[in-house]
Amino acid sequence: MSDYTGSVVTATKTLKVKRSVRKQRDLARAADGWTECMARGLRILQASTLAKIPWLVHGFSTRPGGVSELQGEKVLNLGFAEWDSKENVLENRRRFQSALGADGLTLVTLRQIHSDVVRLLHAPLAEPCRGDASATNRASLLLAVQTADCVPILLVDPKKRAVAAVHAGWRGTLQRIVTKTIGTMHMQFGTKPADLLAAIGPSIGGCCYEVGTEVAVEFKSQFPNASDWFDELRTGDEPNPLQWLNMSPPGHQPPPKKVLLDLRKANCAQLLVAGLRPQNIIVSDLCTACRRDLLFSYRKEGAKTGRLMSVIGIKGSSLSSSPNES
Ligand SMILES: [Zn+2]
Repeated sequence: MSDYTGSVVTATKTLKVKRSVRKQRDLARAADGWTECMARGLRILQASTLAKIPWLVHGFSTRPGGVSELQGEKVLNLGFAEWDSKENVLENRRRFQSALGADGLTLVTLRQIHSDVVRLLHAPLAEPCRGDASATNRASLLLAVQTADCVPILLVDPKKRAVAAVHAGWRGTLQRIVTKTIGTMHMQFGTKPADLLAAIGPSIGGCCYEVGTEVAVEFKSQFPNASDWFDELRTGDEPNPLQWLNMSPPGHQPPPKKVLLDLRKANCAQLLVAGLRPQNIIVSDLCTACRRDLLFSYRKEGAKTGRLMSVIGIKGSSLSSSPNES
């Protein structure tokens, strides 16, 4: 059974990764470049390019398992929510970390605000700080972003031994959060984009992500190839060309029509423009809205849904005494 149907921008050869302790099944198709780690009833998605790095720990959570109860189903909700207890979420996080073999690392979450704020972390935070991306080259920190439709992106510089986690909804994507994260890594760690590996986890797909035409107009004003990321929303009637994209003269109002946005493509394009090699980018094509059996979707389920977590960190025990952030 193959639940994960990931894809890569350019075919990435799946490397056989052997985890000594944990049961690991490669449910993903070999060419997809994804593997699935199963432990304690949890199913965790990993990018094979990242999984082969011995000092790295990473993973994208999925819905099944955990101790939270959502409409009669046990789910791995990793974000604090009104419908769930704090104890449940903390227990879920503990299980998730344990399944990843990351018990020794300190989880660092952000108070995500759909911004372009990148946090450089040197040590654990007492309280989550506001921001939508974090980066570090210190060991023992497990950087995390939480999503339920938005795009989670994990970055690793294998040469400089630095990592980052990025949360990109349409606002963050428009503000180039992933590009700015790469810029931060370049400035702080000397990262060369050509060395970076990127994994784009499950998010809402271009199949389901409806946005207003004003969003398309904003993207079009920022990115020359933005029209590649949008599709018309076919409602059954006559085909409607993407005329709103050409309606630049002042005074023209775009028609009140929804369009479909492919946020993965938009972020992938930013990675390529930043200088990443196509073969170093792996993209899951699992859609959170289509696959509510496996994932959480805020768009489809509303406030009463869980949060997925994407994490990345450097193994080791050397904690720094530097300030929390800069
Ligand atoms: Zn979909």
